[in-house]
Amino acid sequence: MIVGAGLAGMTAAHELRDRDLVVIEKEDRVGGRTLSGRHGEYWYNSGAQFVWDKRTLALCRELGLDVIDGDGARAAIFVRGRLVEAANPYALLAKMPLSAREKLDFGLTIRRLRRLADRMPSLDRRRLDGQSLADLMGSTTPFTRQILDNVTENGAGLGIDEVSGWIGLAYAIHLFGGDVNDTLKAVRGGTQAITQTVAERLDPERLVLGVAVTQVTVEPEGVAVSYRRNGEVETLQARHCILAAPAPAVLEMVPGLPADKRAALERMQPYTEGLNVAWMTDESGPMPWDRLLAVPVLGASFELFSNNAYFARRRDGERRPGGTFVTLSISGEKARGFSALSDEEIRRAQVADLKRMFPSAGEVLDRARVRVERWRALPRFRKGWLADQQVIRAPFGHLHFCGDYTAQPGTPGAVGSGYHAAQAVRAALEA
Ligand SMILES: Cc1cc2nc3c(=O)[nH]c(=O)nc-3n(C[C@H](O)[C@H](O)[C@H](O)COP(=O)(O)OP(=O)(O)OC[C@H]3O[C@@H](n4cnc5c(N)ncnc54)[C@H](O)[C@@H]3O)c2cc1C
Repeated sequence: MIVGAGLAGMTAAHELRDRDLVVIEKEDRVGGRTLSGRHGEYWYNSGAQFVWDKRTLALCRELGLDVIDGDGARAAIFVRGRLVEAANPYALLAKMPLSAREKLDFGLTIRRLRRLADRMPSLDRRRLDGQSLADLMGSTTPFTRQILDNVTENGAGLGIDEVSGWIGLAYAIHLFGGDVNDTLKAVRGGTQAITQTVAERLDPERLVLGVAVTQVTVEPEGVAVSYRRNGEVETLQARHCILAAPAPAVLEMVPGLPADKRAALERMQPYTEGLNVAWMTDESGPMPWDRLLAVPVLGASFELFSNNAYFARRRDGERRPGGTFVTLSISGEKARGFSALSDEEIRRAQVADLKRMFPSAGEVLDRARVRVERWRALPRFRKGWLADQQVIRAPFGHLHFCGDYTAQPGTPGAVGSGYHAAQAVRAALEA
């Protein structure tokens, strides 16, 4: 039995597809925090944007999905009211509207962090994790702090003062590394295609959608899973259960969790609030964002501009009319500011900022259709998190746990932990 049909749960389902298996998902779709839509020839991602780690790429290959890299995209950032573009991150830094001292400080901080990351295999992970990224950075200018805050908040849900140094380091150096376009990869059709393809290959009777599990009880010989269907509570007995729901749902569902596990799960909360606006445009020719892929945005109503259509054009080699991009704020603070606003009010606020970024595209932006998605986006990978990891991951009887919060932020954590949970169940069944 698997509870939750996000990336973690569906990876586990794929690995165990030869077994007697049922997946129960409370929404009437698979994908969890991956959610993709279509606009003519183009797709967009209202949830996770990019994939990059080996295990996720291998899963995509196995499922026959086309993964496209971001080669050829220009480095860019919106800072101090200006969109700055360059051929690579180093040239970008030189062009940014910053003082000489700010540029030097930023360059030296990234170099320091890179050197630390290069030594990472030989370093004590716990020591890095016991400090925040800000501790590792040392004294820096407010600008260096602002940009690295943007990067770690979007990747790991926390700013530099709180995020685990071990987790934050990877995000901090990634954006300003020479390989950024190679690591920003997209699945053709959208990230949700991963779970949708797994679902297509499962026997439809094994996938139960639109049914929320209310309680998961560990018993001596297995696990009892209760859910509400047509107003009635039903219970299924399973020899093993993989719980692939987010940490707050686990806390609600499982009575009698060991106290140390409960405390560790509580420390992953609350997940950050996130807002994603997908923009569907109808232009007939080139646009100023055509060569941009992922643009950090400072001082606006969103924090990242992600050009989903870039990938389709790169693969197809032609620029068809129209396009899709998304604006994201997943650090909590910006999204919270929007929580009381209607979709239309959000659109108006963001279109004003998009026009500051792309002044020549006003008419196309005014005509664009939008889809607004609000999320409980990311668990909190605070400093000291590694000390909790063993406890968070540990099975409880025949109940196994997976999901990004058990491993590392994002799709690598979800897919990797789903894979490992499935292997643990297989080994137990075969033993
Ligand atoms: C806007 C946004 C952008 C992101 N961008 C990226 C990115 O570019 N790259 C990246 O790697 N990551 C990104 N992420 C993070 C990534 O989406 C997640 O880390 C990953 O999808 C988590 O997968 P999961 O399976 O662990 O959890 P989820 O996707 O949350 O899946 C859990 C599933 O459990 C189900 N569930 C919950 N409670 C119950 C219940 N009681 N009964 C039955 N089912 C239940 C949920 O409905 C859900 O389907 C982004 C996230 C957001 C929100």
